[in-house]
Amino acid sequence: MVGVFERMGTLGHEQVVFCQDPDSGLKAIIGIHDTTLGPALGGTRLWSYHTEEEALQDVLRLSRGMTFKAACAGIPLGGGKAVILARPEQKSERLFRAYGRFVHSLAGRYITAEDVNISVADMDAVRKETPYVTGVSREFGGSGNPGPVTAFGVYQGMRAAVMMHTGQTSGNVLSGLRVAVQGIGSVGMALCRRLKDDGVKLVLSDINQERARKAAQELDAKAVSPEEIYSADVDVFAPCAMGAILNDSTIPQLKARIVAGAANNQLADETKHALALAERHIVYCPDYVINAGGLINVYHEMIGYKQEAAMSQASKIFETTTHVLERSRALGVTPGQAAHALAEERLGAARGLKTLNAWKRS
Ligand code: NAD
Repeated sequence: MVGVFERMGTLGHEQVVFCQDPDSGLKAIIGIHDTTLGPALGGTRLWSYHTEEEALQDVLRLSRGMTFKAACAGIPLGGGKAVILARPEQKSERLFRAYGRFVHSLAGRYITAEDVNISVADMDAVRKETPYVTGVSREFGGSGNPGPVTAFGVYQGMRAAVMMHTGQTSGNVLSGLRVAVQGIGSVGMALCRRLKDDGVKLVLSDINQERARKAAQELDAKAVSPEEIYSADVDVFAPCAMGAILNDSTIPQLKARIVAGAANNQLADETKHALALAERHIVYCPDYVINAGGLINVYHEMIGYKQEAAMSQASKIFETTTHVLERSRALGVTPGQAAHALAEERLGAARGLKTLNAWKRS
């Protein structure tokens, strides 16, 4: 097995923190990828991982994605993420307070927020132990659930991709299209509501069948099984559940011409599966470009929350997605490579400035 330091080196991580609290049953891993642009910010995911190795892999990939996400969104924050190894039934105030104490021990190098299976109430419990948390309720001076702003950003990215693909330059470009949404959680549901308002025909799935049934009823959508969503006869596929769902077995099933969704790390293998999509002429909107709305929202919480300002910055995901897709087309590289280059340009500029400042001081 490859050691932790070797993997940190390969992916460029600064710090990985393993947290254990026997009293509450907490087992968590915090990954700090890169703090060039600012303190590492990223949500906490609670998941029942099969192995510790799987949890480590997840936190390393997710935290690296946050560095690129902040850089592409033009936000002065670094990349971090955390995973709690537990089942949702094991959630308790004690567990989140123990976790909050670990976050606090990092003295602001890592700032947390919600991710899968984590609610605003859970973050409120963390807030009782540390100020280094965002996405808390209004009672704690926060802006609440970032999911709807994330959905708004995904919607903007999807519009940009559709406009590039169809050549349409104005009007309601989504009207009449068919979109398959995988995962009807916080982001997926808010995205579906926006799409329905634009006259989109929705196909949806969720492993929680009751949630899928209720959503289908509200949205006048077709609910399909989690296996059937990949081969749905749609124009756009929007993954809004878990990562690694674009892989050897799912990519050949896709009928959609565009993939634009909120889930982090959608490509099981960043290089191989980006190429597999390109070979099938499927336009892939890089996840960390179009799902930056949540990060933008919590960043605005840190600087003094005004919803209009957060939404206005999230709407720029339209321009960023257009820029990335245009570059990808012009240079004959994948959208992922174009996005990575954009992030590296911004990180490189910040590293250059830091070096100059260090020389000035010496
Ligand atoms: P959530 O927990 O509210 O919803 C996830 C939904 O996906 C749940 O309903 C769950 O039952 C469902 N699901 C899980 N596996 C599935 C599968 N195989 N098939 C179908 N449904 C499945 O999470 P969320 O906050 O909506 O986040 C969704 C995704 O977007 C995650 O990957 C998250 O990391 C990413 N994301 C979220 C935000 C945010 O602001 N919440 C920001 C950026 C990225």
